[in-house]
Amino acid sequence: MDRRVAFVTGASRGIGRAIAEKLASDGCHVVLVARSADRLEALAKEITDQGGSAEACPCDIGDGEALATAVTDAAERHGRFDILVNNAGITRDDLLLRMSDEAWDEVIHVNLRSAFVACRAAVRPMMRGRFGRIINVGSVSGVMGNPGQANYAAAKAGMIGFTKTIGKEFAGKGVTANVVAPGFIATDMTDALPDLVKEEATKRIPAKRFGTPEEIAHAVSFLASDGASYINGRVLAVDGGMTD
Ligand code: NAP
Repeated sequence: MDRRVAFVTGASRGIGRAIAEKLASDGCHVVLVARSADRLEALAKEITDQGGSAEACPCDIGDGEALATAVTDAAERHGRFDILVNNAGITRDDLLLRMSDEAWDEVIHVNLRSAFVACRAAVRPMMRGRFGRIINVGSVSGVMGNPGQANYAAAKAGMIGFTKTIGKEFAGKGVTANVVAPGFIATDMTDALPDLVKEEATKRIPAKRFGTPEEIAHAVSFLASDGASYINGRVLAVDGGMTD
């Protein structure tokens, strides 16, 4: 994947960081996106110190205009835009009867609307290059549902319909779009769960353990590769066997 430009949101930590590191080791130039500029700068330095290529691009993906500008600026700066990984996401969990309008709106806005905004900005430069790989990071919650996550599951399920649609709209232009749907992965997001919830979750995973961010990164790297050119509109669960 030499010299391909990959734009990865949520690259400051967790799954997005592992994806950025993997794509950099695959030979991509990685545009690192999140709000924490310091962490992005540190990661860009780590990647370049190891012989890779990366740049920090601080951006709040909840700000649609800033996100679209970050995509188009990256495409202009590099004269190409090959891989988009919409990974950044948040949770605001609560049972339905207690869920506020704000918790609903924020999760749909940050998790789903951002993917729409970034994809809309990315497909033009991708079509110009006659190559594009869109990988949207969903969740098993969007496939199976999960008590306490009506907002999050709706956003992640919405991402599946959205991804299948753009996969169909741009398939003839060399652009594919797929979802990677992680199960329980050890990151800050799951670290915040109470121990009892983590124990119960582990029991439901056939692999009997949480996955690692690197295990998600390998799936993303494959879908971003030339070898995945005929895979489009799919949902790849990376969940230790949790979903059918
Ligand atoms: P995490 O550890 O909480 O990291 C979230 C990342 O998103 C951070 O880099 C954060 O960076 C960034 N982010 C959050 N809000 C943002 C905003 N408004 N603008 C820009 N960046 C923002 O989460 P994770 O576990 O790695 O999850 C990554 C993705 O995988 C998410 O979409 C999540 O829904 C999905 N997922 C995770 C699991 C799991 O078990 N961990 C399971 C299924 C799906 P800053 O704070 O620096 O902005």
